Amino acid sequence: QPVLAVVGRPNVGKSTLVNRILGRREAVVQDVPGVTRDRVAYDALWNGRRFTVVDTGGWEPGASGLQGSVAAQAELAMSTSDAVLLVVDATVGATTTDEAVARVLRRSKRPVLLAANKVDDERLLAETASLWSLGLGEPHPVSALHGRSSGDLLDAIVDALPEAPRDLGTTAGGPRRVALVGKPNVGKSSLLNKLTGEERAVVDSVAGTTVDPVDSLVELDGQLWRFVDTAGLRKRVQTASGMEYYASLRTKSAIDAAEVVIVLLDASEPVSEQDLRVVTMVAEAGRALVLAFNKWDLVDDERRHQLDRELDRGLVRVPWAERVNVSALTGRAVRKLAPALRTALQSWDQRVPTGQLNGWLSDLVAATPPPVRGGKQPKILFATQAGIRPPTLVLFTTGFLEAGYRRFVERKFRERFGFKGSPVRINVRVRE
Ligand code: GDP
Repeated sequence: QPVLAVVGRPNVGKSTLVNRILGRREAVVQDVPGVTRDRVAYDALWNGRRFTVVDTGGWEPGASGLQGSVAAQAELAMSTSDAVLLVVDATVGATTTDEAVARVLRRSKRPVLLAANKVDDERLLAETASLWSLGLGEPHPVSALHGRSSGDLLDAIVDALPEAPRDLGTTAGGPRRVALVGKPNVGKSSLLNKLTGEERAVVDSVAGTTVDPVDSLVELDGQLWRFVDTAGLRKRVQTASGMEYYASLRTKSAIDAAEVVIVLLDASEPVSEQDLRVVTMVAEAGRALVLAFNKWDLVDDERRHQLDRELDRGLVRVPWAERVNVSALTGRAVRKLAPALRTALQSWDQRVPTGQLNGWLSDLVAATPPPVRGGKQPKILFATQAGIRPPTLVLFTTGFLEAGYRRFVERKFRERFGFKGSPVRINVRVRE
């Protein structure tokens, strides 16, 4: 979701205005340096538009002098957000610091809005006209304390922000889409038959229904699921589709069409390169993942230990995947598939509120800061969860983060917030 950064001198009422924007009463009103340090970013909602508000008062850019530090704040704000809101104190008018910051902001390629705060009565309204001199367009008079005109300001803010990008794989409701994939002979059609046989397929590949004729609607555990591209699986005798190129194209398109993917593996055989390729394909497509180990009826203790070792090595990229051990032949644990699918999809749909995310992140970074690179210590300013399906985090930083540190952040993020069964993407936006 788009980001609005709020900048301004201390005591102009930034934090109070941020609380206004967030529609909250309890305010972190002291502009004492450090007061808002560990909570800098929040979710806001206005007219159905979601955005993230960043209070730059929490940043300590470290430049000397007030003017320098507020200007540095503005620089950071410009490079990490989609729009900037400059707050000035209407009872004081434009100070030389405000002018210096406005000079910086006028270079911004993104929209800049100007709020004249503390317009608590009519007399001050006339004064705000002088703020046109800052060269940032129309000053929006507000009283953060009394709530005056904050609706007009919010309208202007959401107009200035870009529309949030649509989440990948968003569905218009209806049964959730499942792909069942895996290399030949792992038991895909046996499993599908078991699922539809025991639990009765509601619509079985009937042309002319709302379901594509290649899909199957299957009821599992009291819930309807849409298994995509099952036409090929239904034929017990498979045609000469042994051509691997064709098979992998088909697998790719089934994964793309699905929200959650069951990768079926043959537990009685060594995990193969081909299995791992399919797993990687799912993670890269950003789909929720359930690993189902089939033919468990053939697995003895020795094979089980062997399999554990193979998985430790082979599945390092997807330690978060949901796992079930089934037998399409005997029906063993087949009923555990639906709960696993539900867990994975819940994670795929999950959103961590921005305030919570940043509270956690500031503790993490304080305990384990990113490694120094080229003599510089990269700082993580704040983070937002930009999207779901798959969950995607954006870290706003002052420098490049090494892949190792990003993996560390992901591991800690999962320890704190879960996301079992879903890939999580972590993007880093470095200030320009
Ligand atoms: P597909 O190519 O993935 O669709 O695999 P099939 O469903 O055609 O199954 C391949 C072979 O494995 C068939 O001979 C099945 O009877 C057998 N099979 C499937 N599931 C199981 C299972 O759970 N246990 C055992 N022992 N055999 C299975």
